Amino acid sequence: MRRTLIAGNWKMNGSLAGNAKLLGGIKVDPTRYAACDLLVCAPAPYLAQCQAELAGTAVAWGAQDVSEHEAGAYTGDVAASMLAEFGCSYVIVGHSERRAYQGESSEAVARKAVCALRAGLTPIVCVGETLAERQAERTDAVVGQQLDVVLQALDVADVARIVVAYEPLWAIGTGVTATPEMAQAVHQMLRAKIAAKSAEAAAKARILYGGSMKPDNAGQLLAMPDIDGGLIGGASLKAEDFLAIAQAAQAVQAAA
Ligand code: PEP
Repeated sequence: MRRTLIAGNWKMNGSLAGNAKLLGGIKVDPTRYAACDLLVCAPAPYLAQCQAELAGTAVAWGAQDVSEHEAGAYTGDVAASMLAEFGCSYVIVGHSERRAYQGESSEAVARKAVCALRAGLTPIVCVGETLAERQAERTDAVVGQQLDVVLQALDVADVARIVVAYEPLWAIGTGVTATPEMAQAVHQMLRAKIAAKSAEAAAKARILYGGSMKPDNAGQLLAMPDIDGGLIGGASLKAEDFLAIAQAAQAVQAAA
């Protein structure tokens, strides 16, 4: 059985004092959420704070982006090796906000995923469709293509090392969530894409749902067979909401 991953994406939010409070609230007794992996993805300036505050706890920490280059004249970029050097374990790549505002192509996202894997990090590869694409019944084509470009760039051995996050753009930060059935259908399609590359990887790879996941809808989403966790924006900024989602995940695992 795949371990559920409950990952917070703080986006561009936080302050030293606010983060200390939030991290203090989510550093928990690991036995309470033993069936889940907990992760927070913080803005780059706060990664050192996460490293210090979360050392020795069950909560992992990760970055929200990484350079598609290994090193060199790329002012402002952060290399995967730099993240790995001081203990970062995950990095989000291809979040829809970066695709939209920084013009990141799926090819660039694939190069970022490759850099992350080479440095020993786990990339969380985000894919998702716009409302117009869903209404035009192009969800599978758009989302499938976004994942295909990344899969084509990876060695078979690395495919099992990625996490995929399905995040319909119309559900991110809107309060509107995909129904569990809608999300499951896309997750199943994504797992089939991974299976076409490696059946073993498809059985292992975790596919997260993201888009207004909250304590009151998490249980139903996480109960779906191909939903292996959540990438959580707004609700990850409140320790009690983040932990309530982890609690829902723990309950789903216990019932399975
Ligand atoms: C996200 O930013 O990845 C996200 C899913 O945000 P929210 O949970 O706020 O919709």
